[in-house]
Amino acid sequence: MPFAGRRATFPLVSVPVLLAVDEDSAALGEIERELVDRYARSYRVVCVTSAEEARAELEALAAAGEDVALVLSAQHLGGIRGGELLGRVRELHPHAQRALLIEWGSWGAGETAEEIFQAMARRQIEYYVIRPSQTPDELFHQSVSTFLLEWAHARRVSPHTVRIVSEEWAGRASELKEVLGRCAVPHAFLLADSPDGRKLVDGSDGEPLPLVVFPNGTVLANPTNLELASAAGATIDPDRREYDVVIIGGGPAGLSAAVYGASEGLRTLVVDDGGIGGQATSSSLIRNYLGFPRGVSGRRLAESAYEQAWVFGAKFAFMHDATALRREEDRLRLALSDGGEVSARAVILATGATYRRLEVPEIEALVGAGVFYGGPASEAPTTVDEDVYVVGGANSAGQAALHLAEYARQVTLVVRADSLEKGMSHYLVTQVEGTPNLEVLLETEVVGGGADGEGWLEHLVLRSRADGTSRTVDAQELFLMIGAKPNSGWLPEELALGEGGFIRTGRDLERDGVWRHDDRCPFSLETSMSGVFAAGDVREGSMNRVASAVGEGSVAIRLIHEMFAAEQLAPQGPAPR
Ligand SMILES: Cc1cc2nc3c(=O)[nH]c(=O)nc-3n(C[C@H](O)[C@H](O)[C@H](O)COP(=O)(O)OP(=O)(O)OC[C@H]3O[C@@H](n4cnc5c(N)ncnc54)[C@H](O)[C@@H]3O)c2cc1C
Repeated sequence: MPFAGRRATFPLVSVPVLLAVDEDSAALGEIERELVDRYARSYRVVCVTSAEEARAELEALAAAGEDVALVLSAQHLGGIRGGELLGRVRELHPHAQRALLIEWGSWGAGETAEEIFQAMARRQIEYYVIRPSQTPDELFHQSVSTFLLEWAHARRVSPHTVRIVSEEWAGRASELKEVLGRCAVPHAFLLADSPDGRKLVDGSDGEPLPLVVFPNGTVLANPTNLELASAAGATIDPDRREYDVVIIGGGPAGLSAAVYGASEGLRTLVVDDGGIGGQATSSSLIRNYLGFPRGVSGRRLAESAYEQAWVFGAKFAFMHDATALRREEDRLRLALSDGGEVSARAVILATGATYRRLEVPEIEALVGAGVFYGGPASEAPTTVDEDVYVVGGANSAGQAALHLAEYARQVTLVVRADSLEKGMSHYLVTQVEGTPNLEVLLETEVVGGGADGEGWLEHLVLRSRADGTSRTVDAQELFLMIGAKPNSGWLPEELALGEGGFIRTGRDLERDGVWRHDDRCPFSLETSMSGVFAAGDVREGSMNRVASAVGEGSVAIRLIHEMFAAEQLAPQGPAPR
């Protein structure tokens, strides 16, 4: 069906828009057919044949307050490239997903590959889509559905969104938001005196705030972290149970160990003081993890890994801190923060690392109310039109600043060092320097700040390390990414730590005389306490990457099998349901 002029397809009530632009009217007709057939009940499909029409349409939709969920553009639109048009979309529609339409097989052609690579590096597009070739074209629809789910997450309209209602942003409400974030549960925050907040408060029989309202109608009034995690997902009470292996930490290393441990018949428990995913959940887009060419959000990766471990039979105890570890004959005993205890034949320490604190009291008081430790994965889409500051000079801070620059009016990266190159990879420095709404302040630190009448961050005080002068700047969001320290402070003295508190493992222990067992050598990821292994960022010499943490988690399980074989211990089998 060739396309004949601009066309908007019903329904014409205010629903999110899917916009496609292509000068080739026959090709555009096929795209329109696929989009309408599959999505016209919930989205309005708008198809236009030039960049000018697309711009005019995007402006009119923004002026009318209408949402645009997805823009698809051909590679060439008269004099301009599709990537250029798509790069401007977020100025008008900050949550829209953007994709280049390409021909099947053309990614092998130098020009198309280069165009996709450049447009992704400049963050002009999320990805590409192969034009539909038949009807229905499920490959095309798989791409479109993925974009729509990402849009729904960013727009806070994804299914099963939990709502937190509170009188203020900070305090307990902010902690509850963090708990849900760490359990990878989509959530939204409502002030109690906003129209939607009032409706939920009115329907709650005068329960005390903050309220947590679940999609199934369950309402919890100021729940404990454990009550919230239990209501949101599958956490068990592990007290006094016995396992083959207990994994402390549900980040990439711990989740990988859980998948391999449970799938290989070990009774496996994961204990985490929060939820799943660890640091990875603060990464908006992991681009370097094998098998995800368009990148994967840390949250999505953690959700899938959790599900995978769960279907193999691994058990999870969220919101439980491991507080002590000791050996008692042939078993290792772990004390938990609620007073409970679990025992295992082997333990994997996958406790990762935690951000260092800024230790400026005015800033600490605003954590959750405009001040955040870690990456902006879930907050970034809410920073539209705001002045945002990121503190840190390493790759994670650079990535965060670039991600925020897609939404915020202005992003400022505050760095203590006198050059970006000292802490950041070259490719990120190039992107940071090439982003117009991203400024870098070198030799600068945050020394103070304050809130507005609603208790949200309003300004920061910055001090120059070069000349000692201070100035106050407007700021609505501050993301702090100032280095990490390993979560190893709770471990017993007999477990040897290296410089900075990272856990020492493997042959180094023997060389340095801290391995005290004459009957065998330590396995490569084994700590100085036999039967206790370490994997991921908490381990001395780790690579601080998702892939290496995942690799080490799986290797630790392999080594535990070897240890059981050497010590002639048979696994007990799957964990009790
Ligand atoms: C913003 C950001 C972006 C990143 N981007 C990338 C990227 O693009 N690519 C990449 O490869 N890597 C990236 N990384 C690094 C990557 O996330 C880490 O290397 C990886 O998460 C380490 O995994 P882990 O399992 O060792 O530890 P973590 O992810 O730190 O998980 C450890 C878990 O253990 C829990 N825990 C700690 N102590 C205890 C205790 N006593 N009891 C119970 N639980 C405990 C913690 O709460 C946490 O949930 C990024 C990191 C950040 C912060």
